[in-house]
Amino acid sequence: MFDAIVVGIGGVGSSACYNLAKQGLQVLGIDRYCPPHPYGSSHGDTRIIRKSYFEHPSYVPLLQRAYTLWSELEDEADKQLYFPTGLLEVGPADGVVIQGVLRSASDHNLPIERLSMQQAKRQFPGINGDEDWQVLFEKDAGYLLVDQCVETQIALATYHGATIKTNCSMVRWSADRHQVQVETQSERFIAKKLILCAGPWADQALQEFCLPLKVLHKHLYWYPCVNPLYQQAKGFPCFFFETSTGYYYGSPAFDESGLKVARHSGGTPVAIPGGTQSAILDGTHPREEEDQRHVEDFLRMYMPSVMPNSNARSQPSRWKGCYYTMTPDEHFIVDALPNHENVFVIAGLSGHGFKFTSVLGEIAAQFVNEKTTGFDLDFLKMSRFQKASTQ
Ligand SMILES: Cc1cc2nc3c(=O)[nH]c(=O)nc-3n(C[C@H](O)[C@H](O)[C@H](O)COP(=O)(O)OP(=O)(O)OC[C@H]3O[C@@H](n4cnc5c(N)ncnc54)[C@H](O)[C@@H]3O)c2cc1C
Repeated sequence: MFDAIVVGIGGVGSSACYNLAKQGLQVLGIDRYCPPHPYGSSHGDTRIIRKSYFEHPSYVPLLQRAYTLWSELEDEADKQLYFPTGLLEVGPADGVVIQGVLRSASDHNLPIERLSMQQAKRQFPGINGDEDWQVLFEKDAGYLLVDQCVETQIALATYHGATIKTNCSMVRWSADRHQVQVETQSERFIAKKLILCAGPWADQALQEFCLPLKVLHKHLYWYPCVNPLYQQAKGFPCFFFETSTGYYYGSPAFDESGLKVARHSGGTPVAIPGGTQSAILDGTHPREEEDQRHVEDFLRMYMPSVMPNSNARSQPSRWKGCYYTMTPDEHFIVDALPNHENVFVIAGLSGHGFKFTSVLGEIAAQFVNEKTTGFDLDFLKMSRFQKASTQ
């Protein structure tokens, strides 16, 4: 019998397997594909990591631990996974981003540099924005190499004794007070605890619990930069803009692909016919003209030197599709299942979860070890949706 079975070894699951195996526990990790892969949510070169979290100040203690754990992972693997480029947060002074960042920074005493738009344009000549906008610079932020983080965690989990099975789908699971059981197409496994972290497939793995999850199809683009203004080597940072047409973010150019940019808002809801997502989550990502147009309008307006000829339609050097798994309030689900205290769910990371996966894996291991986490996770409990639906 395994101590734990981890279903889904993408961002969260690879970290859970690594943390469990490092503690000497018998862990089995299974995945329907061979991670890192381009079919779920944890691929596309980079993920921004930042501390002064505008989404909710209660994420900050989790982030502080996440930073420590990413650094420990780098030490153990002897490779750089985090690149501290800094992060520009730009938008209206009374907007969601600026207000939220300032609140988290103040609640948790985090350093933030405040700049006027004019000062920011002098310091970072590649950017533009409304004269009355506020700009914040978070030095202790940057990006993680997402695919390499997953790959490294799986490699180290294996090194520490985890059993990893790829191209192996869970078709059903069950649990009683004593054990959990996971069935794949050809095998059946038993463990003391089950960790479900199936990303965009979470709804499928948890059908009977009717979680209010919505999967959005999203896109990432890279634009070649003739102009060195946007290069990491020249000091260009990661960025996050709140504009009248939505949120846009990206990371600096560090190879021939160029500047990475994407729209955080929007996205196409993906149907879940009959509760099964296999038809739509097959890895084919149809390109969406409208999304690309939004991103290019953003570049023309706020990063004008990426597309110096304002009439020309510039082609991205690369683009990729990916999935956000949204909850109604855009906060995660990190909780044991009601009536199944040996099953733990980490899901609905709502398009901002990768930076947390190091600490979420540790929390999963603490659940298996029946240790308390020391974090306030009440705002991530599943019961918040039941309360909402009965009001
Ligand atoms: C375009 C884009 C940009 C983003 N940018 C950021 C960012 O800048 N910063 C940030 O912090 N976050 C960001 N995110 C969000 C972040 O990447 C995700 O929240 C995170 O990667 C989700 O990890 P996961 O483990 O939940 O899902 P995944 O990594 O998709 O893992 C789920 C795994 O479960 C497996 N699986 C599913 N069902 C089964 C089954 N039945 N049997 C076996 N295996 C199964 C899948 O194959 C998959 O490997 C972004 C997301 C996208 C899409």
